[in-house]
Amino acid sequence: MRDLDINIQNLVLQQTVADHVEIHGTGLHSGAETILRIHPAKIDNGIVFVRKDVSDRNNLIPALWDRVVDTQLCTVIGNKDGVTVGTIEHIMAALNALGISNAMIELDGPEVPIMDGSSRPFIEAIERVGVQTQDAPLKVIKILEDIVYEEDDKVVRLTPADTAAFAITIDFAHQSIGRQSYALTLDDNAFSNEISDARTFGFAHEVNYLRSLGLCLGGSLENAVVLDENKILNPEGLRHQDEFARHKLLDAVGDIFLAGHRIIGAYEGYKAGHAVNNKALHALFANPEKWTLTTITQTAAAAKTALATA
Ligand SMILES: [Zn+2]
Repeated sequence: MRDLDINIQNLVLQQTVADHVEIHGTGLHSGAETILRIHPAKIDNGIVFVRKDVSDRNNLIPALWDRVVDTQLCTVIGNKDGVTVGTIEHIMAALNALGISNAMIELDGPEVPIMDGSSRPFIEAIERVGVQTQDAPLKVIKILEDIVYEEDDKVVRLTPADTAAFAITIDFAHQSIGRQSYALTLDDNAFSNEISDARTFGFAHEVNYLRSLGLCLGGSLENAVVLDENKILNPEGLRHQDEFARHKLLDAVGDIFLAGHRIIGAYEGYKAGHAVNNKALHALFANPEKWTLTTITQTAAAAKTALATA
């Protein structure tokens, strides 16, 4: 797979898409054909979803941690009028990785299309039009003190670091998965080149159960890795031997971007999924002394000062 051209190493300014992006696909749960359009947005807009098919109520839903209404099967956000958008995590991961801080995302249904189950189609679509820098410093959330969220054996840690670093470990009692770890930072193109094509995955018995509930109607071997009790059912196999860990890391990059800004700090997840990722953000925002809203420039200047005085 070829490397992507977008270079985000010098991310200091806010960015949006350079032009409109249109993506056609199917909703994983609804099975409905959906058109999604990413539009450029003004400085400090943030990422906002727009349900174009809803006209009798407020159809705007900002992509923020406190708008999350469901995390069982995917991350779903909603507004006070009960208008929701589901399966936002893979496009949010693409936007976070590409350093896009402002965009309006229109869609004509309740779910972001699943595409091939990864972030790759969103990255490629945005790469076709390019990224536009904007004349305002990028605001970031800098972690100052450790935040730990634990639930059963699942753990999410956010700790101070100079970059947006992500590490995940998963442990499934399945011979095709087992224990896997993956780590990267968002400072270079590692996400695009190593992670973005990792597909979502599920187990056949769960898929059958979800279908009996009228969910997962768009799910197929075209948009997920599906396993039965013993093996992977996709005839083409895996894209990476550790595709499962890579996908969970992809999900984390998307879920954590619901902070509303890129987080400068180290995310470390153990058996973490959408629910605990969101609860970790609730823990973050419940402890305002443990983080600060700043800019990359100020962060770099503070690091230099710290070095000089050390
Ligand atoms: Zn996912």
